[in-house]
Amino acid sequence: MNIVRFSPASLTPYNSYRVAAWAEACFFSETADDFVAALRQSVGVRTVLLGHGCNVILSQDHYDSSVRFLATARLEPALAVAGDRLSAGAGARLRDACRLAARAGLSGLERLWDIPGSVGGAAHMNAGAYGTSFYEVVESVDVLYPATGERAALSREQCRPAYRMTAFQGTDTVILGVRLTLTPADPAAVLAEMGRIGKLRRSKLPYDLPSAGSVFRRPDGAPPVGQIMEEAGLKGFRIGGAQISPRHAGIIVNAGSATGADILAVVEAMRRAARQRYGVELVLEQVVV
Ligand SMILES: Cc1cc2nc3c(=O)[nH]c(=O)nc-3n(C[C@H](O)[C@H](O)[C@H](O)COP(=O)(O)OP(=O)(O)OC[C@H]3O[C@@H](n4cnc5c(N)ncnc54)[C@H](O)[C@@H]3O)c2cc1C
Repeated sequence: MNIVRFSPASLTPYNSYRVAAWAEACFFSETADDFVAALRQSVGVRTVLLGHGCNVILSQDHYDSSVRFLATARLEPALAVAGDRLSAGAGARLRDACRLAARAGLSGLERLWDIPGSVGGAAHMNAGAYGTSFYEVVESVDVLYPATGERAALSREQCRPAYRMTAFQGTDTVILGVRLTLTPADPAAVLAEMGRIGKLRRSKLPYDLPSAGSVFRRPDGAPPVGQIMEEAGLKGFRIGGAQISPRHAGIIVNAGSATGADILAVVEAMRRAARQRYGVELVLEQVVV
């Protein structure tokens, strides 16, 4: 097996909040073999696996070498279509998978169009929008268990998908790739639906500033988070560089040199507001590193 070297690097390009952070031990692999070697070499060491970093909050501006950062963002995307099946490596952009499906005349990913991040991240988080989620089209997920080096192809049921949840959360299981089953359709119709969704998203979400999308899971027994924050007068509320988006109050944006601490302070203010107004405990969707 290859021996890989971990080295210091900036994490700023690897988190969509664009928080400035530095880590002493990083390996941003370009080949699947090196990626697996790095995972196997890191057993017993605290390891943070990033996809494209579109759903993470980096809480520190410096990480010493006791924690290793690995990312799939530079891996070969390995996107392919055969019949009504689409396969993708973990590092492939979800947007590229959607585009490929549309070109091949395959329907099923349209409402996931324009969700930033990787296929591996979507499979870990069960990304979703507009009443659908990633696992609706998943046939199987290829995983690696780093401790033993064992690999498996898991069925959708084995991944136990639920609203923004999967069996992988809270475990060290690494997603290597996915196979999707889609439905043959007219490419023009698929593209038109993606265009509609893209316009809808751009009209509602603050794509103009760095963010990581919705901060919290949708609460049970209370209005959407954005509405709670508006009612609490928190739209536009700011601590340091982190601001509750004036366009969508369920999203925190980096309005200028935000730190992880700024973002987490705004998270706390949002939690307090939901507790006070509706007695609900908001649950973070984003992953704090
Ligand atoms: C503007 C904007 C809009 C967004 N809109 C939506 C939306 O509509 N719906 C939605 O669901 N999300 C949305 N998001 C959040 C984000 O795009 C998704 O959660 C996405 O699936 C994260 O993918 P990622 O590769 O960036 O994962 P990361 O943020 O890198 O990682 C998220 C988690 O997944 C784990 N992970 C990543 N890759 C792997 C892997 N290969 N194996 C095992 N674990 C892995 C990480 O360890 C981490 O715990 C939005 C984000 C932004 C910035």
